Order: sequence, then C-alpha cells, then structure tokens
Amino acid sequence: MHAFEYIRPASVADAAAKRSANDDSTYLAGGMTLIPTLKQRLAQPSQLLDLGGITELKGITLKDGVLTVGAMTSHADVAASSDVKKSIPALAVLAGSIGDPQVRDRGTLGGSIANSDPSADYPAAVVGLGATVHTNKRQISGDQFFKGLFETALEPGELIVKVSFPTPKRAAYMKFPNPASRYAVVGVMVAETATGIRVAVTGAGACAFRIPAMEAALAKSFSADAIKNITVPVSDMNNDMHATAEYRAHLVGVMAKRAIAAIA
Ligand SMILES: Cc1cc2nc3c(=O)[nH]c(=O)nc-3n(C[C@H](O)[C@H](O)[C@H](O)COP(=O)(O)OP(=O)(O)OC[C@H]3O[C@@H](n4cnc5c(N)ncnc54)[C@H](O)[C@@H]3O)c2cc1C
Repeated sequence: MHAFEYIRPASVADAAAKRSANDDSTYLAGGMTLIPTLKQRLAQPSQLLDLGGITELKGITLKDGVLTVGAMTSHADVAASSDVKKSIPALAVLAGSIGDPQVRDRGTLGGSIANSDPSADYPAAVVGLGATVHTNKRQISGDQFFKGLFETALEPGELIVKVSFPTPKRAAYMKFPNPASRYAVVGVMVAETATGIRVAVTGAGACAFRIPAMEAALAKSFSADAIKNITVPVSDMNNDMHATAEYRAHLVGVMAKRAIAAIA
C-alpha cells in the first residue's frame, strides 16, 4: 500500500470541506472495498477521510412511514434493527444476506451504493423500494442514482448522508448468491408501494434496473403466473466467469417469481 494521510473528520461539513480542499482525497467508510483497492494500488489517494467518527451518518429511524438509514450504518445493524424488521422486513433479509459476518460488521449502506458494484444487493432495494439518497448537497431519487458499472449520479466529493425508504405495503427480496462471496449473481426486489408495483434487479446488468413489463403485469394480477412469459434481453446481461448472460436472464425470471411467491 502506498503512503497516505489519514484524517478522521468530526462532522459532515468538516469532511466535505476537507474533501473539496484536496481533489486527491477519498472518503473511507468500512474499507471493505476501498482497502483492498488501495492494497492492489488500483487507487492511490494522498488522503483518506475516515467517516467512522461522524455520528450524524449513523443510525436508523422510522417516522411517518419512512425508514431512514444513515450512510455509515453497517449491514449487520440494518439486519438486526427492529425498526427495519417491522417496517421493511425484506430490507433486513437483504442486509442479512450480504457477504459474511465480518463484511456485514464493517460494510456500510453508503459505501455499498457509492461503489455501485453491479452485484451489490442494496441497489435492488434503493431502486425497488423507490428510495431517496440524501447527500450533503441534494436529494437524488433511487431511480436516478445508479448510472452504470461502478458509476453513480454522485459528483466528485459529494457525500451520501442517509437513504430514506418509504415503507411499502409488501415487499420481498430474492437472490441467487455467488457461493463464495455471497454477492448477487442475480437479485430481485419486488415491492408493492404507495405509487405502484416495482420490480428491481441487481447483479444481472451494469447497474440496478427496473422491469416495467413485469410491473405492469403484476399491477393487473399479482401472481407468479402473470410474469411467466416476460423475459429480459440477454444482450443487456453481464457475462462473466460466474454466470453467462443467458443464465442471468433466466435467473431474473426465477428470482422475480420467488419474490412474488414469498410475498403472497
Ligand atoms: C468478501 C466480501 C464479500 C462481499 N459480499 C457482498 C454481498 O454479498 N453483497 C453485497 O451487496 N456486497 C458485498 N460486499 C461489499 C460490502 O458489503 C460493502 O458494501 C462494500 O465493499 C463497500 O464497503 P464499505 O461500506 O466498507 O465502503 P468503503 O470500501 O470504505 O468505500 C467504498 C467506496 O464508497 C465511497 N464511499 C463510502 N462511503 C461514502 C459516502 N457516505 N458517501 C460517498 N462516498 C462514499 C468510498 O470513497 C469508496 O470509493 C462484499 C465485500 C467483501 C470484501
């Protein structure tokens, strides 16, 4: 690992100010992706801004039908939260399915969605539940947040503060996990929200996406049968050593049907 300056800001304002004063600095959350990246010298920032000391970035609140999760909240805390289990059990299941206990203990919601790994689980929840990402500068709709492979709507230096999830009427998340890492080969969130049915997929494409044809079919008839003939284009699927594009396209339908069955 190359040498860098380590700073532990005390507030969001302090972190953002230090970041804007140095274009070559990077936020550090749990380090689950960033530290291996530094060890491999794929990134060589001159300064790390450790967000771990900023209390306003941590915690979970449930108020007026909206669940809000701080960016530095760990996957383990989301999985164990009684407020999450009560309001959006599918989100607790999703968080509890990430990696292993060590990863869930260190990994954070903010780090996960900022990274926009195509196989990460949280993007399916952010898009599928119609969440809003709150940064130090603005609010970004979940539908607009993920832009591509490891690419988001965040501007350089923009800091995720929290994510708010409107409580759905019902929702379920199903994934086909990679047996080694537990990352989603394909994961599907199906939710009935106040604004309609949402079906969001992670793992299959460059970033999380919705399937409008499935949403329309489920709005007419909420059953696994209603989507049995709806497919996703194989040409849009990831194709790698873990699964072919054809297999991923098949898994999207299977996971969506399992999520519908779990809800029903
Ligand atoms: C072995 C292993 C297995 C895993 N399995 C899974 C899995 O099954 N499912 C899954 O979804 N994920 C999985 N992960 C990913 C993991 O859960 C973390 O979410 C991910 O690695 C990000 O880690 P982190 O939160 O520690 O962020 P870091 O690694 O500290 O940061 C990641 C990136 O996000 C940026 N960042 C961090 N916080 C913010 C913020 N608040 N605002 C703006 N930018 C920010 C950082 O600058 C950095 O670029 C796995 C990881 C490992 C190592």
